[in-house]
Order: sequence, then structure tokens, then C-alpha cells
Amino acid sequence: MSYSLLIDGRKVQGVGRIDVIDPSTGSVFDSAPRADEALALEAIAASSKAGKLWAALGYAGRRVYLHDFATAIESRTEEMAAVLNRERGGPLAECRREVAITVAALRHFADQSLASRVVRESDVERIIEQHYPQGVVAAIMPWNRPITLLSFKLGPALITGNTVIAKPAPTTPLSTLLIGEIAADVLPAGVFQTLADQNDLGALLTRHPSVAHVSFTGSTATGKKVLAGAADSLKRFTLELGGNDVAIILDDADLESVIPKIFQAAMINAGQVCYATKRVYAPRPMLDRVVELLADQAKGARLGNGLDPAHQIGPLQNRMQFEKVLTLIEVTRKEGTIVVGGDVVEGGGYFITPAIVRDLSDDAQLVREEQFGPILPVLGYDDLDSVVDRANASEYGLGGSIWTADVKRGIDIASRIESGTVWVNRHMSLPFDVAFGGAKESGMGLQNGVQGMEDFTQRRIVNVALD
Ligand code: NAD
Repeated sequence: MSYSLLIDGRKVQGVGRIDVIDPSTGSVFDSAPRADEALALEAIAASSKAGKLWAALGYAGRRVYLHDFATAIESRTEEMAAVLNRERGGPLAECRREVAITVAALRHFADQSLASRVVRESDVERIIEQHYPQGVVAAIMPWNRPITLLSFKLGPALITGNTVIAKPAPTTPLSTLLIGEIAADVLPAGVFQTLADQNDLGALLTRHPSVAHVSFTGSTATGKKVLAGAADSLKRFTLELGGNDVAIILDDADLESVIPKIFQAAMINAGQVCYATKRVYAPRPMLDRVVELLADQAKGARLGNGLDPAHQIGPLQNRMQFEKVLTLIEVTRKEGTIVVGGDVVEGGGYFITPAIVRDLSDDAQLVREEQFGPILPVLGYDDLDSVVDRANASEYGLGGSIWTADVKRGIDIASRIESGTVWVNRHMSLPFDVAFGGAKESGMGLQNGVQGMEDFTQRRIVNVALD
């Protein structure tokens, strides 16, 4: 299939091509057009121009467009899921779920609005709080969940009256370009545009004075560059960055029911999810059993191309990440005991068997850093105070989970974890009406929920004297 960029309502072939690799085979399977600086500037100008009309439509007008957009994406679910399976890898059912979440997010936000609010009213004055759109939003995306993560920006930003330029990661451009091609038929020109690049346009979007808001999801290291770039023109920004989420198992947990859920939370998308469980802490007397049950899960997991419904775990998404995880595995072999997994599956794709690791110190690289791959450390703890301290001894603070038979105890411990979201007896539930965001170096700003919409608006106070 031939893909296009979407710029000012036109399907554009760009200035060159980027090879797109299927991580299940390690071979090029397609290519994407790429934009250069001139096309990016054209998109920014078109986005500014479209903003006036889009904002003037009001919530009622924009709602209709967003519902049409969601329905048009839904009608191409199979095509979209197939593209996701090829470019990002993973089970086809998970790819279909990614499309379904994208559609549901757009529908949810299509039905929202931010009403003006009278803050104070008396005989002598009336003070009203309003929200107006910020303008051009640059949505800069990672490769692990290309379109779901985009929909968490697109829905709230568009319904509140902003226009959006999406820049996918260079290794997963196709699903975003497809969303753009669908948008070409349903949205007014310039309201949504797509710019694929070879990792060279992010900085321009981050610094350009006509971009009002940079909504970035990606690594903490790049997030810091975005923050520096946005400073020059005091842009609004959202940073959704890396994590090192804990799963803390309490001594009353029913391991037989809890362990499969923790394994799933750690190995979903081969561990390449910001909110994946990245460290497991178990009471010392339960450590052997926890390791044994997690290892059983790892041994039973079926790895391979997601086109086969029997396969539950897909590949690492790109060669760079594959090599990074392999290097981490080599370091981990010296620092602890890999009980199971950590092996490359021969055959060309970027598959690594899920690994369970024990006997690591808190200083081990796998404990301190975000692995973003299928390798999970399990650590013992002696008392709850110390495990809370160890959970919090991280520069990250994205999510985390507590596993217990006693919900009250779970909430008590959750309330001591320094992160944006803490789940009890579940992991990674992200309802659209609940805001999420990272503490510490996991991010700034919020997505989803009312606050996620507010973050794409400027608050205006209208202060009236009546006397
Ligand atoms: P990355 O930081 O390497 O790239 C993300 C995007 O930034 C890409 O589109 C890239 O082209 C662009 N980019 C590169 N240099 C830039 C610059 N100087 N200015 C602006 N943009 C630039 O991240 P990745 O490897 O694609 O994604 C993995 C990371 O994303 C992990 O750390 C993961 O935890 C994080 N992530 C966070 C969330 C969240 O919601 N908190 C969600 C998914 C992924």
C-alpha cells in the first residue's frame, strides 16, 4: 500500500522514503514517505490557519466531526490492526484492541466539553472562568503504542478546539499515516496533519513559535530536550515519559490468582509499555514461590509472530531496543540469577524469551533503570516500611501496583507510593475519564480526564464590575 503524509488536507508523497521493518522478521516490509523542514513549516502554517474555523465551530460542531472520525477509523479496524501487527509487532488481537481503544477514546472525548464557570457572583461583581484553545498542538509519539497514545492527545486536544500535527516515531509511521488518510476524508483541512520523519523534525516542532503546545510521549531523556526546546517561547507542554513501576505483593495475597496478572502486566507488548510492571517485590518468605510461579508463566508463554493467535508475546519493536535489552541481559547475568528466559529466538525477528531474574541488589541496572523489554526482576523484602522506601527510591514515578487480599491495607500502602497512579489488585487500567500523568522524572502535565482536556486550553478569567 502507498501511504501519504496529510498536510493542509492534501495527501502528500513527501521528500523521500523511510524503510519500515517488520520486527517479527527483521526485514523491510514497506516504506513511508517522509517530510522535511519545508513540509513541517507548511503544516504548522496550515494548522494555525485551520485553528480559527475549528475553534469557531464550538463543541457541538466539533463533536460531529470527531464522531465521524471515530466511525471512519472503526470501519478500517482490520486494515489498521494488520498494519500495527507488521510495524510494531505483537498479537493481532492486541492490535485490534489498540484500534478499539483509539476509537473509544475519540468517542469519549467527542462527547465532552469544558463549560465556563461563574467563580463568584454578587451585586457588585461577576467573575467567570473560561477555557479557550491554545492553538497548534504538536503530538510527538513513541513506537510502542502508536495510535492509542495518539488518541489520548487527539481526542482532548481536538474537542477543546485545538489543531494537531502528529509526528510518529520513525519506526512506526504507517498506522499514524493511515489515521491521517482517514482524517483527510472527514476532518476540515489542517485540523489534523501527519508528518513522518527520520528522527529529525521533533526539535523543530518543539521550538517553532507558532506551535502552542508540545504533547510529548517518549523517553525521559528526549522529554528533557523537549522541555528545553519549549522554554524559548514558553510553550505549554505535556510530557509522558518513562517509568519503573513496582508491583508489591503483600503477605496475604493469593499468589495463584495474582501472579498471572502480574506476569501479564510485565510482559504485555514484550514489556514495552510505559506502565508495565518493571520491578516485583515479594515478602522474603514468599520469594521462592513467587519466582517459581512467575518462571512457570514465562516457560508457558508462547512467543512469535502475532498473526498466529496462539502467540501471546511479540518481538521487541526495533533493532536498537532489541540490542539494548540484550546488553541489559548480559549485565544482569553478572549481577543476579536469570531463572528462566533471556534467550534470543533464532529466525530473524527481534524476539527474546521472557526472563525472570532474582538475587539482584537494589543497585543492579535492571532494578534502577527502565528495561522496556521482557525481563523482570523479583526482589524480597522484610517489612512494609522498607519496601515503600525502596519503591520510592527511583527518579521515576509513573505507576505501580499493590497486591493483597485486604483492600484497606492495599489502599494504605498505595497512598505511600510516590507516583501518578497506583493500582490495587489490578495494573494499567486507564479509563478515559480519569487523568493520568507521571510524578518526578516520569512526566509533567496530565492526559485524559477533565484535567487532560484543561491542559490543552488556556484558562481566562473574565472579571466584571457590576456596581
Ligand atoms: P524517544 O524519546 O526515543 O522518542 C519519542 C519521540 O521523540 C519520537 O517520535 C522521536 O522521533 C522524537 N524525538 C527525538 N528527538 C527529539 C527531540 N530532540 N525533540 C523532540 N522530539 C524528538 O522514545 P521511544 O524510544 O520512542 O519510546 C519509549 C519511551 O517512551 C519509554 O521510555 C517509555 O516509557 C516512554 N513512554 C511513556 C508513556 C507515558 O504515557 N508516560 C507512554 C509510552 C511510552
